[in-house]
Amino acid sequence: MLFINGSWVPASTGQMFESRNPATGEVLGSVADGDAEDARAAIAAARAAFGSWSTTTVYQRSAFLYEAWRIMMDRREDLARLMTTEQGKPLRMSRNEVGYAADFLLWFAEEAKRIYGATIPSARADQRFMTMYQPVGIAAAITPWNYPISMLTRKMAPALAAGCTIVVKPAKQTPLCAVETFKVFEEAGFPAGVVNLVTSSRARAIAHEFLTNRDVRKITFTGSTEVGKEIAEGAAAQLKRISLELGGHAPFIVFEDADPVHAARGASLVKFLNTGQACICPNRIFVHRSIADRFIAELTARVEKLQPGNGLDDGVTAGPLIDEGAMEKMAAHVSDAKGKGATVTTGGYRLTDPPFDAGTFYAPTVLTDVTPEMLIYREETFGPIAPVIVFDDDEAVIDMANDTTYGLASYLYTNNLKRAMTVAERLDFGIIGVNDINPTSAAVPFGGIKESGVGREGAREGLLEYLDQKVVGFAL
Ligand code: NAP
Repeated sequence: MLFINGSWVPASTGQMFESRNPATGEVLGSVADGDAEDARAAIAAARAAFGSWSTTTVYQRSAFLYEAWRIMMDRREDLARLMTTEQGKPLRMSRNEVGYAADFLLWFAEEAKRIYGATIPSARADQRFMTMYQPVGIAAAITPWNYPISMLTRKMAPALAAGCTIVVKPAKQTPLCAVETFKVFEEAGFPAGVVNLVTSSRARAIAHEFLTNRDVRKITFTGSTEVGKEIAEGAAAQLKRISLELGGHAPFIVFEDADPVHAARGASLVKFLNTGQACICPNRIFVHRSIADRFIAELTARVEKLQPGNGLDDGVTAGPLIDEGAMEKMAAHVSDAKGKGATVTTGGYRLTDPPFDAGTFYAPTVLTDVTPEMLIYREETFGPIAPVIVFDDDEAVIDMANDTTYGLASYLYTNNLKRAMTVAERLDFGIIGVNDINPTSAAVPFGGIKESGVGREGAREGLLEYLDQKVVGFAL
């Protein structure tokens, strides 16, 4: 069912589509397959609700968000179990994600109260200036499958705090997580039309309605750079505000003064986060020649210990990939790299024995002797393959790290403060972890530069994405 104007309704097409467990192939359930007509109805509901929602006090909006946070935390275990069955990540990671998703509700419940403008002195004695912030209007969100709950709240919480109403189209692989997330908003008592959900297998048709409908003033998208560019082009016709959180190709640099064992631990954790299916996963691991042997041995040993399987089972640390398309990409990246001289120190193949044959599992893999000619050096892998490149000096590695069209996350390991600061200043990435594999939080701005996106999510910057600034001049 779609959630439109405060009610669960069937799609206008009368059709449904299935959601499957990527670990077992089993059908988990079916959801309504919405079309442009449903998106239109959802936008109309959001428009009807906007007048009253945008004029509620920030204290009222904050109270709704606190309530949603409380309900989500109460449901944490159920939501996490659903996420593991629908998306595949190990249960412990799903619990973490639900916590992260709830963090956005809490943080923006608090920040809603700080939508401050300013007073600005004028050069004229008889003039005063002030700035004020007002909600941009109706926001439309398109979200990915890899973080199927937190990518909703990272958009919905600031939009609602700002006073916007919203329509969400989630990824077709994880619609059940979206439905359960909306039940949280429903129970929190948000007025009809303030939050609307259109599940659909027809992304293009829904996006077209979002882009061409004049009532939508803001599009927020998380997904691939390729689709992000289409959204940017489409939004240009009406100059709608956009936020784009897109792909990444993170460098992970281990300098000669770093502890290779500690760095290898960090690399294995962040590279295999969500089985490599996170936009902040390293895609090129650069290690200084003087410590390369030690680092590669430790990384390989840690990766060999990863336990692929059904994320609901105890001890599983690597879930399945989302679908066959992802499996094909892994095979292509590995065979291209091997053909051009890379060495596989562990993994490098699809897991086909039972119980893996029912799902989409790829063995956690480490590649060494990786060079810039290889596909994996350029393309986002989005899977459990760690490519290692040896370097000799700082200048060269900074150039190599920046040699990508992407600019989302980056990591460096060093015990030299001057080097850490200098390199952080020179890396062309929106997020930099210094000996830190999780430089993210609801309280800090998340986003990329170059072809990794436009705008920021989380933090005050994330709230400003849903607000228009006005200047008011007073002649006395
Ligand atoms: P995707 O194919 O771009 O899909 C993302 C969303 O866009 C889905 O809801 C999808 O719907 C929809 N979509 C697909 N084609 C569309 C089109 N032509 N017009 C409008 N919407 C369309 O990306 P994905 O493979 O699901 O997600 C992985 C990508 O997301 C990776 O590149 C990853 O780095 C990026 N990501 C970025 C961040 C970040 O914050 N920067 C966070 C997470 C993921 P369907 O599901 O129906 O195809």
